[in-house]
Amino acid sequence: MRKETVTFDLSVYQSIDHLPEDFGNLLFAAIEALPKAYAPYSTFYVGAAVLLQNGKVITGANFENASYPLALCAERVALAAAASQFPGVRVKAIAVTAKNPKKAIAKPIPPCGACRQVISEIEHIHKRNIRMILGSETGEIYVLDSASYLLPFSFDGDFL
Ligand SMILES: [Zn+2]
Repeated sequence: MRKETVTFDLSVYQSIDHLPEDFGNLLFAAIEALPKAYAPYSTFYVGAAVLLQNGKVITGANFENASYPLALCAERVALAAAASQFPGVRVKAIAVTAKNPKKAIAKPIPPCGACRQVISEIEHIHKRNIRMILGSETGEIYVLDSASYLLPFSFDGDFL
């Protein structure tokens, strides 16, 4: 038997003003997507912005449904839109943020497990890391160099 430890590094920024300009612009695009959320049931608004290799920024917001399980997360909305509009173009980074009128979000918002799997798939397709910028309303911002940090031991197409 042996034990192993999995760790990863992340960069912590105090506010959007402290981010490098390209990360700040991407997070700002995610913030601008927040009002586009269709979230009448949760009133939890999520915005995402995807930066592609060709320089295009594609945004998405969560899209709920009266049949709750059909809700789509902002990250997957943005990534599917990007893949549809620019098939085969590599994703360089994704920024995510959220707004909750019931209480301010004071820590960086993490993608849900399903979104982590989808982002991992896209990293696997292109064999390149996708940088993640995780925003909050009033708190710090996390920047991770790879989505895989949030989903170690991920399942991918190599198993099939
Ligand atoms: Zn999600």
